[in-house]
Amino acid sequence: MVWRLLAAITVSAFLPTLAFAIEASNRYRSPRNPERRIRSSTELIVLHTTEAAERGSLVKLCDRGEAHYCVTEAGTVYRIVDRDREAFHAGRSMWNGKEDVDKFSIGIECVGHHDKAMPEAQIAAIKTLVKELQSMYRLSDDKVVCHSHVAYGAPNKWHKNKHRGRKRCGMLFAMPSVRARLGLAKRPTSDADVRAKRLVVGDDYLRKVLYGNIDTMRSAYAKPAPADTGGLFSWFKRKTPPVATDSAPAKAAPARTTPAKTTPAKTTPAKAPPVKPPASVKELAARGYVMKGTVSKNTTASKIAGAKWNSPDTYYTIRNKVIPGSRIDPAHIENGMCIWMKK
Ligand SMILES: [Zn+2]
Repeated sequence: MVWRLLAAITVSAFLPTLAFAIEASNRYRSPRNPERRIRSSTELIVLHTTEAAERGSLVKLCDRGEAHYCVTEAGTVYRIVDRDREAFHAGRSMWNGKEDVDKFSIGIECVGHHDKAMPEAQIAAIKTLVKELQSMYRLSDDKVVCHSHVAYGAPNKWHKNKHRGRKRCGMLFAMPSVRARLGLAKRPTSDADVRAKRLVVGDDYLRKVLYGNIDTMRSAYAKPAPADTGGLFSWFKRKTPPVATDSAPAKAAPARTTPAKTTPAKTTPAKAPPVKPPASVKELAARGYVMKGTVSKNTTASKIAGAKWNSPDTYYTIRNKVIPGSRIDPAHIENGMCIWMKK
């Protein structure tokens, strides 16, 4: 009798949590949790890149409650804000006419940069987490977006209208090769807010990444993706050697490997050979770049560099750090930054 009672208690105590188990560490669970509202709906999963190293990212996210989860490069998932509450991750945002995307989305921060390939372990962990959330909230693949899909900018010196392209955060997650790695078959096909003229395009490069053919991760992710590991209990599988559980189905494998091997060969000759960007101000000068101006309150980057403000051949320097224009986040252009261009 006692055993039956005990069994009943055990089952009722553990089943509900197990059914919705997401393997995540609570080490950086935010103290802001109690003050955050319970979200009334969940319509999107928004992927971000921290643009900073792991420890600092986790501390900041935890302190400010700026994401639901954070996935490290090693593939560890940290819970920051409980998934049924609102996390402040999307900032000024709009999707399909609805503002304040925090109110109807889950935010996942991924340690890394918007234009850099992420390690395999991290991609695998993001994939598992996203799949589990998709199944919990019944979200199709095109409801998994990145921050740059939803962020928008208020009118400013550069754009007289509200515009898409305030951020490039999470940009790589819109690229087909990365989505293939994440097991996402669909992506949003167009920007409903631009179509409805609620917003204008403020960053044409970003538009081509989100909805066009720019995919700078193709060579990094040319290898065949591991077989689908989605599902509620997929984290059990993750603990076993990848060969044992993650091998692709026999008939799918050759089809996937053949084009993968040929893709880089086809695309590489079209592009210029990759040149290592200059690592220091000294190197910039040695390569024939000249300092064109310093960003200040009255001198914006576009005033100095014009339309080439975000060109890969324009460089921003601050505290001897060199950032190519193609990697600069407009939100992070700060006063005191020097802009370097070819003579
Ligand atoms: Zn973001």
